[in-house]
Amino acid sequence: VNQFREMKVLVLGLAKSGYAATKLLHSLGAEVTVNDASPEEGNKEASALRLEGIQVICGGHPKGILDEGFELIVKNPGIPYSNSVVVDAVQKGIPVWTEIELTSRISEAPIIAITGSNGKTTTTTLLYHMLNIGGKHPLIAGNIGTASCTVAEKATEDNFIVLEVSSFQLMGTEAFRPKIAIWTNLYDAHLDYHGTSEAYAVAKSRVTEKQTQEDYFIYNEDQAELRKFAARSLATKVPFSLKGIRSAGISADDEQIYWDGEPYVKRSIIKLPGQHNLENILAATAAAILLNCDKAAIENVLSSFTGVRHRTQFVKELKGRTFYNDSKATNTLATKSALAAFDMPIVLIAGGLDRGHSFEELRLFMNNVKAVVTLGETAGKFAEFATSCGITKIIHADDVNDAVLKAYPLTDVGDIVLLSPACASWDQYPSFEARGDQFIEAVIKLS
Ligand code: ADP
Repeated sequence: VNQFREMKVLVLGLAKSGYAATKLLHSLGAEVTVNDASPEEGNKEASALRLEGIQVICGGHPKGILDEGFELIVKNPGIPYSNSVVVDAVQKGIPVWTEIELTSRISEAPIIAITGSNGKTTTTTLLYHMLNIGGKHPLIAGNIGTASCTVAEKATEDNFIVLEVSSFQLMGTEAFRPKIAIWTNLYDAHLDYHGTSEAYAVAKSRVTEKQTQEDYFIYNEDQAELRKFAARSLATKVPFSLKGIRSAGISADDEQIYWDGEPYVKRSIIKLPGQHNLENILAATAAAILLNCDKAAIENVLSSFTGVRHRTQFVKELKGRTFYNDSKATNTLATKSALAAFDMPIVLIAGGLDRGHSFEELRLFMNNVKAVVTLGETAGKFAEFATSCGITKIIHADDVNDAVLKAYPLTDVGDIVLLSPACASWDQYPSFEARGDQFIEAVIKLS
């Protein structure tokens, strides 16, 4: 039964997910109104929806909009719960969903939902490739690429939806029940949105909340907080751990990956660098095994996948020097994991937008850094920090292109050149992607 036919729905926020949700609900026969606080001028989605006869209200939230008898609100995950319409809706008892709740209600394909503070995109991409090569017809959705409800509309029982989900999206769920839930790790983040770290963790835990014994929950056994949430989950638990061989779940020591305590695959075949990526690999591999993916397909991905673009991504080896693009590292935590990923001497390219934070957190990880090329607003601050770590070769560059040219003469055979800025890009670039693209281009030009 189509529960949405003739339902009065208000979609809040007309970005990618709002547009997708509106199209879907409209096609299901719902009576949809879209409301966005920003002006309509130049908003192509708004005009497209209007042409289909959908009511579009832009430029603010009209007072009393909820008096029109809406039965459901679907909101953009970025809209906070302090938004006046959302506050009103919650008070009136109108359900407030995000697009992934719709997705789970209409999808014929099982959903594999991946969440965590870090590693979501990498884990999602790894799993997608494994299932794809294994002939399982996966569809990738969520923050990466297409909106999930657009994907769900097309999906059949023969597909799997590999879905990256954020804590913001999980807040707006009710019956969301993935066949497999993956929770990679938990670090304090987004406190501005969730208020407390407790609330943030609870939002993430919704990924497993509605699961039952027939479903699987893959989680990080090495984090005490996650063990606590796992103990409350009703799903069949599949822990992952980097702390040596475990009898249950998936684990790793220096040599091997183990499945239920049995050697599964040698670590030497893995291309993706870093302990943090090993977590992502364990999580993705566990899910692929649970979905009966061929071992050959899993091995194929482990031995060929060199990283998602801009995330400790292998770019090129040039005369014995290896170049990695970690432009996505927009904070010190991410740069920390990148630095920890390598044993070889590193020439680090860092700096960018100044948010007023210190780089102190990186100190213990600077041992392998032999030289630094600084960038952007925080160049001076980063140079000061590097000096205090005992690094003497510190050069300033105008942009990433210049940084690559200046980094190369500082290297010897066996070294790594790593762009991992520990800062956002907006002082010099429109996005971290643009910054990383310039790095890749510069490296290719260099050769
Ligand atoms: P997300 O989608 O959650 O932002 P990504 O896979 O895009 O995660 O990785 C973003 C950055 O976070 C990477 O460049 C890396 O530095 C760091 N990272 C990735 N996976 C992990 C992990 N499992 N633990 C800690 N840090 C990680």
